[in-house]
Amino acid sequence: MEEKIRLGISTCLLGENVRYDGGHKLDRFLTDTLGQYVEYVPVCPEVECGLGIPRESMRLVGDPASPLLVTTRTHVDHTERMVRWAERRVIELEKENLCGFIFKSDSPSSGMERVKVYTEKGMPEKKGVGIFARIFMAHFPLIPVEEEGRLHDPLLRETFIERIFTLKRWRERLRGIREKGGLGPLVAFHAEHKLLILAHSEKHYRMMGKLVAGGKALPLKELYTQYETLLMEALKLKSTDKKNTNVLHHMMGYFKKDLTSDEKQELLDVIEQYRDGYIPLIVPITLMTHYVRKYKQPYLSKQIYLTPHPAELKLRNHA
Ligand code: SF4
Repeated sequence: MEEKIRLGISTCLLGENVRYDGGHKLDRFLTDTLGQYVEYVPVCPEVECGLGIPRESMRLVGDPASPLLVTTRTHVDHTERMVRWAERRVIELEKENLCGFIFKSDSPSSGMERVKVYTEKGMPEKKGVGIFARIFMAHFPLIPVEEEGRLHDPLLRETFIERIFTLKRWRERLRGIREKGGLGPLVAFHAEHKLLILAHSEKHYRMMGKLVAGGKALPLKELYTQYETLLMEALKLKSTDKKNTNVLHHMMGYFKKDLTSDEKQELLDVIEQYRDGYIPLIVPITLMTHYVRKYKQPYLSKQIYLTPHPAELKLRNHA
């Protein structure tokens, strides 16, 4: 059976009663839908660093670039305890083969961005990062991270899920590369991901093409590190209607001799309707997939762009 994607997650999002008030923040999309494809590695910084349940609530105070973690009512400073624990925990997490992390928004420990930081006078500014989240992101700069709130945005959700599925495929392929050696598996991986990369960044598409083409000049380890960095950087950039339209037109070029004029016109109309926001991406993709099968287009049939994640997640159904 295929291994599931391993994702770190703030424990309270799974419905565990670990919050300061003894409650949870269950997120049904994460448990019931995404949960079918991933294996979660729960992390609750406040409980794991030794603060109990229930406990006094905390907040970030001081300089937003390096704030203190302080209890709200009695002003006990837990910064050092949290930092020491987090620095140990990220080293343990290296063994977990994580392809991503989903953080609980707004938390002074787990929030990934825009967490309130209070000034000396008690005024909040939404400029902080939770103490554990900051240490995690610095330790694993390439691992995709998101917050549960942002995952309710269809485009952010799709981008994150594409990234975690791609990182998982890359890691699996990397194992093959290590076993077999040589450039072959990297060349094959890149060929399959070209259009997915193009849908995010033409600049990265060109840079990665050059990197792979000149791969023999670099030591293998260096080549893979550079490739992985560019891959993760590229997929972090949002795919837009304009970029997808460009990819779809590019794909049409492979059917020059195959499509009848009716089929060509139909495909062009559907792409135009997608570009103008009348129909979701899934419509031109479905029609394109149909022609790829009908005309047995060998290059396009291998493109991950057509199926970057399970259809059941319904990620391309938004206009
Ligand atoms: S937000 Fe983070 S620290 Fe707070 S309960 Fe959830 S997992 Fe624990």
